[in-house]
Amino acid sequence: MSTRVVETGAFIDEAAIGAALGAASTKDAGRVREILAKAAELKGLDMEDVAVLSSVSDPELLGELFAAARDAKDAIYGSRLVLFAPLYISNLCSNDCLYCAFRVRNKELKRRALTQAEIRHETEVLVDQGHKRVLLVAGESYPKQGFGYVLDSIATIYEVKRGNGEIRRVNVNVAPLSVPDFKALKGSGIGTFQLFQETYHRGSYAAVHVGGKKKDYDWRVTGMHRAMEAGIDDVGIGVLFGLYDWRFEVLALMQHVRELERAFGVGPHTISMPRLEPANGSDMASEPPHPVSDVDFRKLVAILRLAVPYTGMIMSTRETANLRRETFALGVSQISAGSRTNPGGYEEDEKFDSAQFQLGDHRSLDEVIRDVAELGYVPSFCTACYRLGRTGMDFMDLAKPGDIKHHCDPNALSTFEEYLLDYGTEGTREIGERLIEKHVREMDDVRRAHTQKMLDKVRAGERDVLC
Ligand code: SAM
Ligand code: SF4
Repeated sequence: MSTRVVETGAFIDEAAIGAALGAASTKDAGRVREILAKAAELKGLDMEDVAVLSSVSDPELLGELFAAARDAKDAIYGSRLVLFAPLYISNLCSNDCLYCAFRVRNKELKRRALTQAEIRHETEVLVDQGHKRVLLVAGESYPKQGFGYVLDSIATIYEVKRGNGEIRRVNVNVAPLSVPDFKALKGSGIGTFQLFQETYHRGSYAAVHVGGKKKDYDWRVTGMHRAMEAGIDDVGIGVLFGLYDWRFEVLALMQHVRELERAFGVGPHTISMPRLEPANGSDMASEPPHPVSDVDFRKLVAILRLAVPYTGMIMSTRETANLRRETFALGVSQISAGSRTNPGGYEEDEKFDSAQFQLGDHRSLDEVIRDVAELGYVPSFCTACYRLGRTGMDFMDLAKPGDIKHHCDPNALSTFEEYLLDYGTEGTREIGERLIEKHVREMDDVRRAHTQKMLDKVRAGERDVLC
């Protein structure tokens, strides 16, 4: 086994996090401004810098922190927002995570693993809405064929073709695997492998994971090493905020990022920041042990944007429409829309008796797109990077000098145009076309000519025009 794969989570150093948080002081506004000036170079921040920013509470400094995050987001991601939908294939689970409705001891939940025919049907519904990316989600227990069930499901999703529509990127959020199983997953053509540590704090982790394989903190926290060793370049890490002090978690996330950079030369592709939401059969989910207020939530999004400027940040429909809008400006680069968290939920609608948790944003994809476009953001269905081999280190090499913008802007506009022509309602189409024209007008001559050519191809009926 390569030395890059580690077996314990010793790289999460609780003592160092405690020391950094203890030493951080915001009384010194000059120090905060120094850190914000460093962040403006878009080279990331150290743990100590992040600790200082996390203790900022003065409204003026907080305003400066938010403004710095906005600038970083604009410089790297412009006004694009990538869209996806989760696809829950099964709620079977052998673990006992006290916050989750799928936990094995929740006898109230209606259990269901979708058949391949049902998965095909769910995919068709999503494709007909205009989605191009799905995040496959499952509990940690699979029907008879074992993990092969997940591989079959990925193949089923990719097989669906409907008119101009298809799913072009399947990301996956399932329990951590061995290196050979990760290799099989890689072979199935996935985009990102997502796995959230939930909490990096060992004591809190043990208190809420009380049964099943997920009790093993080390197996989980080293999961991304095994995934990357197996050749999965794009991995997505995350924390379930509300289980422990968010300041600790943000610093621990940084330690995880730096460890992956040390071992593999590249950090995670994305970071997710779910907050604990009410869940059927879980008292804890309604009363988180360490609730994160909306202000702190915005703060942590802004800090992460500055700390790891080139890592995508994902905001799900757990959050309300309003809060989601606010965090777009602070650094979020991907959002889900029109989501269901119950297996079969797209065909049969939202059902709380089989869902994982309550959603905060119930709007349809078209409503979210219209809203996002009205706010000036360009909804993107682009999947080009991964399909042209721009993953892992290649993606970072491209992203770091800011070049990604030159590919992403035209791709975002051409995939948005596809959406408008094939799926947009009349009102959305009007707003969308105006937004596309505005962006094309503002481009320099070379990019404008190139983008116009791509848009012309889409308008002439070509699809999946990549650059
Ligand atoms: N079973 C796998 C696992 O636990 O890693 C993958 C799927 S699990 C359904 C995906 C994520 O849902 C978990 O990692 C957790 O962060 C999140 N989750 C669980 N319960 C939640 C709740 N009550 N509110 C918000 N997110 C929750
Ligand atoms: Fe199962 Fe994942 Fe829910 Fe835990 S969070 S009970 S592992 S589905």
